[in-house]
Amino acid sequence: MDDVIKLLPDSVANQIAAGEVIQRPASAVKELMENSIDAGATHMKLIVKDAGKTLIQLVDNGKGMTETDARLCFERHATSKISSASDLFSIRTMGFRGEALASIAAISRVEMKTKTADDQVGTEIIIEGSVHESQQPCQCPTGTNISVKNLFFNTPARRNFLKSEQVEKGHIFNEFVRVALSNPSIAFELFQNNLLTHKFEKSNLKQRIVSIFGNPYQQRLVPVDEKTDIISIHGYVLKPEFAKKRKNEQFFFVNSRYIRSPYLSHAVEQAYLDLIPEDMYPSFFLFLETDPSQIDVNVHPTKTEIKFQDERYVYQIIKTTVKRSLGKFNITPTLDFERETAFDDLVTEKNKPVSPPSIQVNPDYNPFKSDHASSFQQQGLSGRIKPEQWESMFPGKEEMPFQRSKGASAQQSVDSQDWGAHDADTSSKKFIHLQNRYILVPVKSGLMVVDHEKAHERILFERFMHILEHKNAVSQQLLFPESIILLDSDAEVLIDIMPQFKTLGFDIVEVSKGTFVVNAVPGDFVNKGNIQNLVEGIIEQYKQYETDPKADSHTGIARSLAKRLSLKPGKPLCEEEMTALIDALFACQLPYQSPFGKATVSILSLQELSEKFK
Ligand code: ADP
Ligand code: MG
Repeated sequence: MDDVIKLLPDSVANQIAAGEVIQRPASAVKELMENSIDAGATHMKLIVKDAGKTLIQLVDNGKGMTETDARLCFERHATSKISSASDLFSIRTMGFRGEALASIAAISRVEMKTKTADDQVGTEIIIEGSVHESQQPCQCPTGTNISVKNLFFNTPARRNFLKSEQVEKGHIFNEFVRVALSNPSIAFELFQNNLLTHKFEKSNLKQRIVSIFGNPYQQRLVPVDEKTDIISIHGYVLKPEFAKKRKNEQFFFVNSRYIRSPYLSHAVEQAYLDLIPEDMYPSFFLFLETDPSQIDVNVHPTKTEIKFQDERYVYQIIKTTVKRSLGKFNITPTLDFERETAFDDLVTEKNKPVSPPSIQVNPDYNPFKSDHASSFQQQGLSGRIKPEQWESMFPGKEEMPFQRSKGASAQQSVDSQDWGAHDADTSSKKFIHLQNRYILVPVKSGLMVVDHEKAHERILFERFMHILEHKNAVSQQLLFPESIILLDSDAEVLIDIMPQFKTLGFDIVEVSKGTFVVNAVPGDFVNKGNIQNLVEGIIEQYKQYETDPKADSHTGIARSLAKRLSLKPGKPLCEEEMTALIDALFACQLPYQSPFGKATVSILSLQELSEKFK
């Protein structure tokens, strides 16, 4: 019998391998851009026609290639980036498998001009379906100009598999954005069908994000920065109120390489847990730096997946760091952390640095001043932020619009007409309660508006969470135990959440199917009306928000109770109550969001005000 085993010709082998590396035009874009980064380019121009099917061209000003390298770079396993197996464990460059150009050249027509700074003339190479067509000296600037034409011309199956022009363009743009985000110091231009559609100047990360996603992002980004022995994290997350229905603005980069990691995304999402509704997702741009020996980037041919040696540790670090960053942002919502805009001069007093809040937890700290005789007084919270801290947002006394001395100036007496000079009490008045719902508070940066219901939800939520976690409820024995009767489905829910109910201070016993006897209730529930209604209301609330059975039930119950017991719009509040409410709000860990992800506070800035009078 004849020998049957043959070695595949290189061109066929390359074509097969190409299927792995180059799945669509966007994959070629990614490989070309990564090569330019590795070549030290500071400017890149990407030109795409027909969603990359007709042309993908990348012009860079990187170090270029010598004549020999220009020829060799299309050989399989041709790479300048590793020379021994041990290099694999310390690799920091983008590519190192040495197969991208060989793969691309196997399934398209590649025309490349390249020149190094040391050479007077460059090299022009044309190669089609792995066949070298020509190579000659040429005049060209230092750098590499590579055109990939008619991608997949000889692999019809692959070509037919491509999606619509719109979809392929989207993939290309995604790759472009990922590279642009991780290299803010490189300038980029993108031409699509002869039109310059995007141009990013050399800048910093924040400005790069803003130029990609639009000016409003300037105010939406919260900086993240943390270093541990194993890993460092920096970047930005978006404020919770800008959470999205889709996860399409979640970016992780590890050692500047974009990676996809549902596991690590989950860590970030956990940090937003009670800040955004369950079906919404946070946006983020996070850069992890670690020793290359800690990761294996080679697990996936297109290198968008990565393995950490200690994934659980990285998960924890990410979650904690993001949470802490959000906490900081919560304290100073109108401050731009990098203080890039002139507006900041309005916010902070000159020469008075805004010190970041301390994040020490003092569970016994009572944020309530003894003279605030109000219903909020009992509400001990695990206070982190002292009232003085939010009060520091207020203007100095002399600037308080409500405060007037006896010898009022002309200007002040105009004011007093508005604020009712007939009311002798105005001298101490700090707040206005608009529509028995919004508390208006002058602060240094403008006017703070607090939604009393949302604020109270946040206060109660943290209080109930604290009780659930520390099991320190104060419960009140009822003089006359009350029986309640529930529908079957509600009874089941109540039995499910009974352990938490007990922790909160309820003493409820099921006496027969659907019938319960309530012996004791938490302190707050006394005088809150009919107990049957109350329990039904909580169950209803719980069902509404906890459709996800995996959701943490503490959070669910605390949310339900907070919703059920919070002050409703229309409830008048006296001055002391408003003061206590705001004190309690700013003693919360996350004062700026209700437990349902709604804003509790909005600030009308001085700048916005002055805009209105232009
Ligand atoms: P890899 O990037 O994995 O090394 P590639 O096939 O992408 O493999 O590239 C092969 C080699 O060609 C690179 O190692 C590099 O030396 C050279 N090269 C590719 N693109 C460029 C470029 N834009 N500028 C300079 N050199 C390049
Ligand atoms: Mg490469």
